[in-house]
Amino acid sequence: MQALVLEKTEELSIRDIEIEETMGPRDVRIAIRNVGICGSDVHYYEHGRIGPFVVDAPMVLGHEAAGTVVEVGKGVTSLEKGDRVCMEPGIPDPTSKASRLGMYNLDPAVRFWATPPVHGVLRPTVVHPADFTFKLPDNVSFAEGAMVEPLAVGMHAANKARIRPGDVAVVTGAGTIGMVTALAALAGGCSRVIMSDVVQPKLDLAKTLGPILSVNASKDDLAAVVKRETDGWGADVVLECSGNEKAAGSAFGLICPGGCVVLVGMPGKPIAYDVVAGQIKEARVEHVFRYAHVYPRALALMGSGKIDVKPLITDTFAFADGIKAFDFARKMPPTSVKAQIELTG
Ligand code: ZN
Repeated sequence: MQALVLEKTEELSIRDIEIEETMGPRDVRIAIRNVGICGSDVHYYEHGRIGPFVVDAPMVLGHEAAGTVVEVGKGVTSLEKGDRVCMEPGIPDPTSKASRLGMYNLDPAVRFWATPPVHGVLRPTVVHPADFTFKLPDNVSFAEGAMVEPLAVGMHAANKARIRPGDVAVVTGAGTIGMVTALAALAGGCSRVIMSDVVQPKLDLAKTLGPILSVNASKDDLAAVVKRETDGWGADVVLECSGNEKAAGSAFGLICPGGCVVLVGMPGKPIAYDVVAGQIKEARVEHVFRYAHVYPRALALMGSGKIDVKPLITDTFAFADGIKAFDFARKMPPTSVKAQIELTG
């Protein structure tokens, strides 16, 4: 099948590739329609590795996907041919200890699309377990369906924060994950979000998504704004989505006594952690790694109109222009958030 293949660092091609897939009784075959380009796809393209995961053989990229069911395994009752769906890209071993403890995202045996040695989904079809395939509400497009994957990270972060109605959240970093995390925090009950970044066009877009006050951290002091906006008390929750070492290290300065810091972004190196700054507020600190079973709730929020991701899908490329799409994504203009590739399936 024709796929977008990462041959090695800095080398992509669109070519035929043999992928062996067998349909099990609980699997469905899906014709892929929209695939979002994720920071991790671009990182593999540029560096050939993420931490311990090294691309040492050609690998198909892409893990944020939606499409149409074209074949259904004998034991599948939840889906039928023609259903429009999106898919969770990580499949754990259901019998593992982590899965049985309800943390299947932390199962060391999880197989995740476009993470070596597992192929991604920038190709015409994929076979996938029905249990990790979710029907799109009628009013949710394929393009929006492919946004459920990044939104799931924001949903998981909002869950970890244990948001209560009326909370004020700070989101640091206005990339895709920062944006969807802000949307999830608002849908989860936050009265408003204070969002910081250093790229003004991203902040301008963020302001249009809901009750979001944007702060350009290159000009304004975020801590002073948070203090002013919360009558000196501090934010209930800080959702750190930039991966910036300084932003992560200074999160305790933004929260209220008893507040919570959720670390979503992945800093490139270890960060300085001011234990005393956390202690004097009895801060709760949570870490997020992907997500566990939040797709149904993310889709319910999209279907009801409580979450609208459409403004975040800024650039769409045809599959034939897939390599161009990746070169665009690696030098993303500041006005763009999410680039997607549209297949014809
Ligand atoms: Zn992603």
